[in-house]
Amino acid sequence: MGTYNRFDLLITAGEGCYCFDEKGNRYTDLTSGIGVNCLGYCDREWADAVSEQAHTLSHTSNLFYTEPCVKLAKTLCDRTGAKKVFFANSGAEANEGAIKVARKYSYDKYGGGRNTVITLKNSFHGRTITTLAATGQDVFHNYFFPFTEGFRYVESGNMDALKEQFDDSVCAVMIEFIQGEGGVIPQDTEYVKALRSFCDEKDVLLIADEVQTGVGRTGKFLACENYGITPDVTTFAKGLGGGLPIGAVAVYGKAENVMGFSSHGSTFGGNPIVCAGALKVLERIDDAFLADVVKKGEYARKKLVGAKGVESVTGAGLMIGIKPTDKKSADVVKKGIERGVLMLTAKDKIRLLPPLNITVKQLDEALDILLEILAE
Ligand SMILES: *Cc1c(COP(=O)(O)O)cnc(C)c1O
Repeated sequence: MGTYNRFDLLITAGEGCYCFDEKGNRYTDLTSGIGVNCLGYCDREWADAVSEQAHTLSHTSNLFYTEPCVKLAKTLCDRTGAKKVFFANSGAEANEGAIKVARKYSYDKYGGGRNTVITLKNSFHGRTITTLAATGQDVFHNYFFPFTEGFRYVESGNMDALKEQFDDSVCAVMIEFIQGEGGVIPQDTEYVKALRSFCDEKDVLLIADEVQTGVGRTGKFLACENYGITPDVTTFAKGLGGGLPIGAVAVYGKAENVMGFSSHGSTFGGNPIVCAGALKVLERIDDAFLADVVKKGEYARKKLVGAKGVESVTGAGLMIGIKPTDKKSADVVKKGIERGVLMLTAKDKIRLLPPLNITVKQLDEALDILLEILAE
């Protein structure tokens, strides 16, 4: 439908952090399909797990048990401390699920009317009518009226602003620990901690949208670990499938028993092939792997901070935002393609989401090219 302004680039194959066009030109991909290919393109073990599953059992629906789905649910809960999980097919869908959990939690306990979800200004939560409404940016609230009611936006990092907007109609606060699409902007630790206690005090759910920050991206399995807090609901998507569409809603403690029979569903959710791929992703992202992500993130930051043409560097782990001193981020990305490096933008920033298993040497070579472009 022309909903994307695609680059003039046809990608025909990929291997690790590299992809190739139809003429055989090689590109270092620091986009990972927007944070999806956390093990790079066509990782051998991941591709084997997926193809073996495709040859064994492809799809059943959620009316039956399958091993990959059960194992993935168990592994995800073990890794996060969550009690239960629902599998969806995208980030927006996972966030819709989380919003349903929050509204039902409140409805069950307090009756109707307590249904407002507070989200942050400059956030991004997806493209469905409800998750657009959840997204705290006016540019997304267009054309598709009426949007889902019950969302309020408050300034990031400002507890006073949140308390001002807070009343008896609120059932949840939803945040990204690092606003991704909004410009790779991390939340302040004190703010997140204060928000956690405030939500506890008021018995409203804290929903963490970890669609972009989750699954090792920031150097911890979940970004909430960087803040020392546990949300009541966490959503996953992007990196979880390693290249196949998946979303997940994980619930902790008091949100554990909110959803039950017939409260939610998905035909594709929990598909065995997708789950087999995600299981392989989780198996590979162990403590040593995460320590390596931290190391590479530090390496990249050291190289970028203070370099010619770089005004500031934000993010954590291998989620990196770079503000150029004078250049437009979109122009830098365009030049990158000509020079064989694929990058993303996020507002005025250049955004890097390289495969988590990229080597230091591969990262180094790509960053050299980026720095050359920025210094021109
Ligand atoms: C990408 C993203 C989404 C939307 O995910 P889709 O899979 O495109 O629906 C939601 N929240 C955050 C934080 C994201 O980065």
